[in-house]
Amino acid sequence: MSTESPVLDIKAPLCPNCGSVDVAAILYGHPACSEEINLDLESNQTVLGGCCEIYEKAPEWCCTKCNHQFGACASSEDGY
Ligand SMILES: [Zn+2]
Repeated sequence: MSTESPVLDIKAPLCPNCGSVDVAAILYGHPACSEEINLDLESNQTVLGGCCEIYEKAPEWCCTKCNHQFGACASSEDGY
């Protein structure tokens, strides 16, 4: 009675640029160290955001259609 469970419990938003649902979460910090992540990487569900530095306006999402990156943490919490 169990259906497939998603590997990552993240819901990707639509791309604000092209409206595609093919949006990958960008992972920061760790290079892919788990098989699940690697599978996600291969299926374009996840992309790596680079090394260990999380800079302030690092985007969270990357559209795999148009390569638009968005979702920088400039939303509700600390608006200045
Ligand atoms: Zn897009």
